[in-house]
Parts: sequence; structure tokens; C-alpha cells
Amino acid sequence: MQLLTGKPCPLSKPSISCDNYPVRLRYLIIGATGGVSASALVGLGLFWHLKNSQPTNPPDVSTHSLTSETSPLKTATDRKPSSNFEYPLICSDPYKAICLRTTSHRDPTGSVHSDVEGEVQALRIVEEIIHEHPEWTSEQVDEELAQIIYTPKRVGRIQSAFRFVRATIEKTIRAQPTEVFSKKDKRLLVNRINSVQLELPPPAALYSDQPDLFTKNDVFYQQSTNGSRKLRVGGAFVMSIKSWFNLVFTLAHELGHSIDPCELRGIPPEKDSAPAAYKNLTSCFLKQGLVSHHKNRSECGENDQLSETFADWIAVQITAIALKEYATEFHKPLIQAAAMNSVRDLCEQDDTLNDLDSEFHPSPKVRIEKIFGNSPEIRNVLGCPSLEGSLKYCTLNPETPERPKDPMELKK
Ligand SMILES: [Zn+2]
Repeated sequence: MQLLTGKPCPLSKPSISCDNYPVRLRYLIIGATGGVSASALVGLGLFWHLKNSQPTNPPDVSTHSLTSETSPLKTATDRKPSSNFEYPLICSDPYKAICLRTTSHRDPTGSVHSDVEGEVQALRIVEEIIHEHPEWTSEQVDEELAQIIYTPKRVGRIQSAFRFVRATIEKTIRAQPTEVFSKKDKRLLVNRINSVQLELPPPAALYSDQPDLFTKNDVFYQQSTNGSRKLRVGGAFVMSIKSWFNLVFTLAHELGHSIDPCELRGIPPEKDSAPAAYKNLTSCFLKQGLVSHHKNRSECGENDQLSETFADWIAVQITAIALKEYATEFHKPLIQAAAMNSVRDLCEQDDTLNDLDSEFHPSPKVRIEKIFGNSPEIRNVLGCPSLEGSLKYCTLNPETPERPKDPMELKK
């Protein structure tokens, strides 16, 4: 088993805390510890899962009046709606629209299920394998499980999303002006992004140091002591992920960790290799409450949400670009539903088996409302009016322009 030095984990899910940072070893496993094989999990988890499984609510794009005096919205200059025009609820209350409402339009690329549903599915498969082959060793069970879960079709879809995310992050980095990223910064960031390997079974032996991952909903980035960087995807996630945009957001979040401000600290020969522009961003995160002022907060150490907030922030940029590409193919309500699905799994889930991590992850409300819902690019895709000028979305630029240039329109 390799020792990990980076910070694996950090899932895009608020419900699962698993950063394996030296000072934050917090791997929560369903009634088991790391290294327990998938077969051993069956009896432990299945009954509990089934008992507590709850149906999930599809996204909602119903409308909500914005005439309230407390509304933070203003009418964009290019939109002149009539007096009785109502923007969708997603514009004024993204958290409520995404996490608390039921029904309505469907994401054309697929739904998002609760974490527990994929885990139940995976555990059922384990149970069936053991029932049919009681004489098999746990390694044989895991191999069969990996073959059933990681089909060429599912693996191909994840690989395709991974390639899109990696190329889009690279393009975004290269498109930054030199005042933001120097040539040296760009080289460092692009090299790191491209050094991350997507590691997907079969064979099951690839995850031999984390066999429980086959039945988990986890997706995480990790760096080993020999410097290799990889992204792993749990079997339950592979089975349940349907929404393309949720997949894009999740992979972008994890890949974003490879260049987050904390991950770039201490890269030899320099003490801190993080680009200077990250300081502007960090200061904006703190000013706007995207990183909590926790008591005893130590930057990139204990009680610090910086790396998670950064990963969400970059995932929002990449998801907005993905949505914009699809915006010409689907009607507005479908794109709105797709956008909401991209972060739907960040909602607090009643049926989660894991504690909500508030030490390293911002609250679901902050993630969905402020990091996602306040993004000018996301609001543009959703057809929402721009926000009041006092609330400028955090960017790498010191001036923090409200509407940054679209990197996709810039030459590489
Ligand atoms: Zn994370």
C-alpha cells in the first residue's frame, strides 16, 4: 500500500469527508476501515442502506417572484422584462431550487441520484456474486465486481468527460493574461494538470489498496510519495452517475485539487509555488465568506476550507463552459435543469451514511448559492439577471471584473 502525501479525496460531496492530508486524516468508511474487501461490506451495509434509502427529487425550474425588497437581483441592461415577468427560482434562491424543491423538467443528459442509491446497487451485486460463488476469495469477488461495474461503456464516458475537463482547464490557464499567470505559472499549472492519470479498473488490482472503493460513491484525487498523481472513481459513483454535467463538475473539482493553492505549497525548489494571482483569489474567498473564518484556522492546515473552495470554484468555471456548449442544442428549461443537476449532489443528503464535513468543505448553501449560483457565467447560461455590483464574483484578476472574458473565445 502506498503512502499518500497529497490530499486525496476531497470529494465534491459535502457529505463525505476524506481528505487524507497529513493533518486531516479523516476517511470515513461504511462500518468498516480501509482495506476491508468489498465482500466483507455486504452484511454490514446492505440492510442499513435499504432501510434508510430515500427517493431523490428531480430538479426544479419553477418560477419565483423577485419583487421582494430583499431581492439581491437587478434587471440586466440587455433584458427588459415586463412588470409581471418572473425569473426562475434558480436565479433568486439557487439552494432552494436545487435542493429543496421537487418535480419538473429533466436534465437531458440524465438524472442525479442520492449517494446511497449507487452504493446499494453495488452492494447488491456483491451479494449476488457471493451467493453464486460462495467458494471465491475476496480478490475473485472484487475482480468480478470490477468487471460488472466498470464496463467499457461506463469507463469510456468517464474518460471522455475527463479529457474534456482536462483540456478545458488547460485552455483556461493558457488564456489568462500575463498579469494573472506568468509563463512560468502557466507551465507549472499545465504540467500538473496533465500529469494526473485517471485510474479506472479493471483489473480490480488497481484498487487493491482501497478495495472498499468498489462499493463507494467516492471520487478523489491523490498524490503518492513517488510524485505520481491520480484520480480514482468509486464503483457506486460509476453505476449511478447519469448527468453529464454532474460528471464534469465532479471531475473538474477533483482535477482542480492538483493545482489548488494548498497543493502547490512546498513544491521544491521553491517554498510556495502557487501563482501570485492565487493570493487575490484567496483574499476574495475570505472576504465573501466562501472560506469560513474558522476559529484556529491555519491556511492549508487545520480548519481551512481554501483547497475545497478553490476546487469548487474551478469546477464552476469548467461546468459553465460545458453548459454553454450545450445551450445551443437544448431549450432553456432543459439547460437550467442540467445546470442544477451539475451540483445537485452537493445538497445535504438526509440518507447519507457520512457526517457532513464543515471543517474543510464550505456548507452546501455556500457552495451552491455563492460559489455556483453567483457565478456570472452560470447565471448567463441560466438566463438570470446579473447581481448587484457590490457583489463581484471572485476571479484571479485583481480588478475582479464581473464578466470575465470567455477563455473559449480566446486563441490558445
Ligand atoms: Zn475536494
